[in-house]
Amino acid sequence: MTQLAIDGGQPELKRTDYKNWPIITRDDRRLIKQVLDSGIVAGGTAPQVKALETEWAAYTGSKYCLTTCSGTAALHMALAACGVGPGDEVITAAFTFLASASCAIHQNAIPVFVDIDPRTYCMDPAKLEAAITERTKAIIPVDIQGMPSDKDPILQIAKKHKLFVIEDACQAHGALYKGKHVGTFGDIGCFSLNNFKNLCGGEGGLFITNDENLMKKAALVRCFGDEVDEVSHRRKYNASILGYMYRNQELPAALTRAQLMHLDKNNKVRIANANYLTRELRKIPGVIPPYCPPDCKHVYFMYNVRFDPKAAGVNCEPRRFRIAVEKALFKEGMLVGQWQTLPVPAQDLFQSKLGYGATGYPWSVNEAKGITYNYDPCQFPVAQSLCDTYTVVHGIHPPNRKALMQKIVGTFQKVFGNLDVALAHADDVIYPGGDAKLYGAS
Ligand SMILES: *Cc1c(COP(=O)(O)O)cnc(C)c1O
Repeated sequence: MTQLAIDGGQPELKRTDYKNWPIITRDDRRLIKQVLDSGIVAGGTAPQVKALETEWAAYTGSKYCLTTCSGTAALHMALAACGVGPGDEVITAAFTFLASASCAIHQNAIPVFVDIDPRTYCMDPAKLEAAITERTKAIIPVDIQGMPSDKDPILQIAKKHKLFVIEDACQAHGALYKGKHVGTFGDIGCFSLNNFKNLCGGEGGLFITNDENLMKKAALVRCFGDEVDEVSHRRKYNASILGYMYRNQELPAALTRAQLMHLDKNNKVRIANANYLTRELRKIPGVIPPYCPPDCKHVYFMYNVRFDPKAAGVNCEPRRFRIAVEKALFKEGMLVGQWQTLPVPAQDLFQSKLGYGATGYPWSVNEAKGITYNYDPCQFPVAQSLCDTYTVVHGIHPPNRKALMQKIVGTFQKVFGNLDVALAHADDVIYPGGDAKLYGAS
């Protein structure tokens, strides 16, 4: 019998089996050189920034695009453009990155969470209406890990209650719902350009809308709320609303444009890698690969698997089983480990409500009127159960291809063929996870 690496055997994978993301090509060098040669490094209407906005609007099929310094900035700008403010509630999914919720606090509004669908891990539309109150202003569905959220029922509910829909598509560049780009269904779509994401500018963000008023308002928010004279095109240095400094720059914009030339091709590799893994891993009892409905295009920003001890024929508590399997896989040299370890509402920020120091603000605005906000994780059992049982299989991005996927599958087979050994090492001091360098970070 093969000996698991966690038990002193030989690891199945080497770090050199993994190739890093993003892929830098001659297009990146060419466009970056263009910026350096031009001498223009910044400006709200600078050539790379303007070209990126035109190209992303065209790519997604939206009328307007504004580039920002981060995805978080784009989300905050979106809420500000929609006029969300103190006392308003903003609904998002319980399983997401913090920024989907903290953007509401940045606008002095109160995040409210909805549990997720157990198959897609996106906001469960069946649980959305129960979270709406007369204070709700906006819904932020999240296209989680590259999987489009269920747009139709969410939009229908939003329309009925006259709510803004801001799509957090920060993880889903190029993903389609019923043939149409995510980010174009609601009032505003937001994307991140950080180094991990399918479309990478180092850092940065993209904001899209079909609504001219929202675009104009967001443009104001992006640059201090400062009005620009319509005739001279000069800044008036007269802020008409509260704004921020959320502009992008020429170098990240140029990098993003070069990366955009390769987005579809790179997404195709992610999908092929993911489909291969799904086909093979679903044959292993106790491994649950991700699900994608037939009318959606999932772009696999991340590749999740869940573990089910019962299906694996093991009598073990699910969370402990995941930890044991994760450690054994990691010791085999696989880059594997959790991303979010908690549903977002379970994070300390929401448990302590220390948004702006010890004031309890912005929750206190409504709590003073007798309204209570309870972020008890028990309200999000699906998100909690996902967090107990999932892990991320890193390295499904290009230039990694089938050779690495085959090794990953072989490693799963090895560990699942020796579950008793893996479980015996469940308490070993091992910290599974990815490798920042894999994603162009240090
Ligand atoms: C990455 C991400 C963001 C924030 O993007 P930044 O560019 O890092 O600010 C927001 N929401 C989700 C779901 C993300 O994954």
